[in-house]
Amino acid sequence: MLRLEKLVKTYKTGDQALKAVDLNVPEGQVMALIGPSGAGKSTLIRCINRLVEPTSGKVYLSNVELTGLSTGVLRRERRRMGMIFQEYALVERLTVMENVLSGRLGYVGFWRSFLRKFPQSDINAAFGLLEKVGLDTMVNKRADELSGGQRQRVGIARALIQKPDILLVDEPTASLDPKTSRQIMRLITELCEENQLAAIINIHDVALAQMYAERIVGLREGIIVYDGSPDDLKPDILTEIYGKEDWTAVRKR
Ligand code: ADP
Repeated sequence: MLRLEKLVKTYKTGDQALKAVDLNVPEGQVMALIGPSGAGKSTLIRCINRLVEPTSGKVYLSNVELTGLSTGVLRRERRRMGMIFQEYALVERLTVMENVLSGRLGYVGFWRSFLRKFPQSDINAAFGLLEKVGLDTMVNKRADELSGGQRQRVGIARALIQKPDILLVDEPTASLDPKTSRQIMRLITELCEENQLAAIINIHDVALAQMYAERIVGLREGIIVYDGSPDDLKPDILTEIYGKEDWTAVRKR
């Protein structure tokens, strides 16, 4: 469904963030992308929807080559990719409902969106999603009145209202406590399963990745060094991805 071919990103600074990455993500697959800081995880996610422009290589989404598209056509294709960010990227002074509806801005016309007039079907869909993510009693709260976990739930509902084929998720739990992190990961993976949605989740926490993803891809210095099942992610492989460390140690004096 999503296919990357020899994807290269070299920043103007000379940093080679991605070195000819090949990757296939089939329909409905939830994949975790792990690796040390600076490995290229964010760059990879952002090159898929061209928030970061790849230097060379190709990105295909259901056989449409995204890398070849003009900005106008790209905007339309981007609706098929739901983006969920670490920093939630909500509009603080808008309500929960308005933030979720902003996910429809790519669909409703300019004037309607300018006046924030959304069709009733969109409002119903937003209610349905807010119920799913457990925020149906908070539709009229302002985004700046919510906790981190609640904000991330709004971000998830906003991504889903686009009816995407794939979710691109960048560090969804980085600022959340352990329990909320698990709840958010569970919510994302359950929604993916329910809607036959694929996902690429860039995540720091290896244990969380193993718990919720069906496939793990390990990136190191812009190269995929592991691609396999969560169960096969043994200490020698973690060393390959992150560098030498005693992965079996449980307590440090
Ligand atoms: P990760 O998400 O795995 O931490 P990134 O994709 O953020 O990794 O970064 C990969 C590499 O690209 C790093 O060496 C980083 O310094 C570099 N990089 C990231 N963004 C930029 C940028 N905007 N300009 C220059 N170099 C960048």
